[in-house]
Amino acid sequence: MTGFLSPVFGFHKPKKQVGEVLQLTTKGMEIMEADVKVKVNEKVLNYINGTFKNGSGSVLDVISPLDGSVISTVPLSGYDEVDDAVKAAREAFPEWSGKTMKERVQVLFRYRTLLEKHSDELTHLVHIENGKTWGEAKAEVDKSIELCEFAVSMPQIVTNEVQEVSRGVECRIERKPVGVVASITPFNFPNMVPHWTMPNAIALGNCMVLKPSEIVPLSAMRMAELLEEAGLPKGVFNVVNGGKDVVEAICDHPGIQAVTFVGSTKVAKIVYKRASGNLKRCVALGGAKNHLIVLPDANPDMTANNVVASMSGCAGQRCMAAAVMVGVDRVQHIIDRMVQECKNIVPGDTLGSVISKEAKERIENYISEAEKAGAKVLVDGRNVTVKSKEGGFYVGPTIVDHVTADMKIAKEEVFGPVISIIRAKDLDEAITIENSSNYGNAAAVFTQSGNFAREVMDRAGAGMIGVNIGVPVPREPFPFGGWNESKFGTCDITGKSSIEFWTQNKKTSVKWNPEAKTNWMS
Ligand code: NAD
Repeated sequence: MTGFLSPVFGFHKPKKQVGEVLQLTTKGMEIMEADVKVKVNEKVLNYINGTFKNGSGSVLDVISPLDGSVISTVPLSGYDEVDDAVKAAREAFPEWSGKTMKERVQVLFRYRTLLEKHSDELTHLVHIENGKTWGEAKAEVDKSIELCEFAVSMPQIVTNEVQEVSRGVECRIERKPVGVVASITPFNFPNMVPHWTMPNAIALGNCMVLKPSEIVPLSAMRMAELLEEAGLPKGVFNVVNGGKDVVEAICDHPGIQAVTFVGSTKVAKIVYKRASGNLKRCVALGGAKNHLIVLPDANPDMTANNVVASMSGCAGQRCMAAAVMVGVDRVQHIIDRMVQECKNIVPGDTLGSVISKEAKERIENYISEAEKAGAKVLVDGRNVTVKSKEGGFYVGPTIVDHVTADMKIAKEEVFGPVISIIRAKDLDEAITIENSSNYGNAAAVFTQSGNFAREVMDRAGAGMIGVNIGVPVPREPFPFGGWNESKFGTCDITGKSSIEFWTQNKKTSVKWNPEAKTNWMS
């Protein structure tokens, strides 16, 4: 098992720094990371029916946000590649779904061991393609290992049901896989989000087509290699790289029965409408605007530390990141400590980069617009550069105080290391502010009062609530999923709730004593 407080959702110091490029060869780029040597493929390929293949269309550069360098290319595939992947998955499905669950999870046992064995290398890929610190990337890989541990426990959890409903007559429910399923993932967790879906889906007998974010495709390619090494039969897991065209092909393809999506609300709506319009089951997780309500009785150091960690960890690019702090009544002493906390954060060292030049500009614009509208910037992360990584995309930790609920920065997802502080006179007003958000991923309260905590637990309009926890991610077997415009569809995406999504119930009634004169209702 991995450690209880996985730092994937916390702030922490990286253990290692990105190293120098050793050499560029025709086989790719070799990079030395302290004691780990990693080969970055010069081009990312699709993985269809157990074979790595070029796409048929153009390619896109993969850029490391750490320093702006091109580290690989990724194919922009289309309907044909999705069609090939679906054919492979359909072909693999009868044999894979025909195995017992215990047989299927043997592959995931071996795969989990490989993730651990290659942890440094996988960490490095996340670090360079996404830009998060080494420690955050390592925590992401640790979380993927934990997600596999949940999947291998499926035979213990999914036990089906049987009851003698009449004398000699038995009804049973068996969970059967849905068929060929697809998973579409975002840039912010290149390793973990694919592991929200793949292990559970295939443990339960489905065959999968994964469409990673074209911005961070390196981790998924390595995932395919390791699954093959673990002995996964060809066709059970396929990767089709690309952007919008691949997503649309997935939503339209008649051979796909279920689609999961994780990304922005704008695209989640498109995918949910299109996939369910094509009669597929779909769960689509969208963006977030998470409110942390801070009461004056909160422990000042712990609260300041948690709020800053939540807003700045992974450079604020987590759907669970704190975006708005609602400070109730007298909380200036906590805000002062938050300002001090930010002084310990060093971009390019303890704070990773944001994903792109466009993201940096967008985040900085939100800060400037809020300032123009009358908010006060207490800590300013604009115009940051990092020595020897001048081409990288960095925004320093930012605290914007005296934000009002009508400002753009209070309503829209900024997705950077920025927190807006809205002042409220009492808890009632704070909860009203939280409830007014269109999103509903997470909310948290910081207090030492059980009554106030309970009030927020009851009334906050979000799917995941924290009490004195800044990033309240439920751990397996508890499921992950928000409310409102943070999630479309009924099931959550992980934990026990995902079992509903990845399976369909088969209900069988059996009369074991066909000669008996008992009637059906006896
Ligand atoms: P995104 O919506 O831009 O992209 C997600 C996926 O959709 C990618 O694979 C991308 O190729 C594809 N895509 C992009 N535009 C498309 C279009 N017009 N039509 C069809 N497909 C399209 O999201 P992102 O920028 O990669 O990720 C960041 C977003 O993801 C943030 O909003 C964040 O809150 C959200 N997110 C949510 C959760 C959650 O659990 N709710 C988890 C992680 C990230």
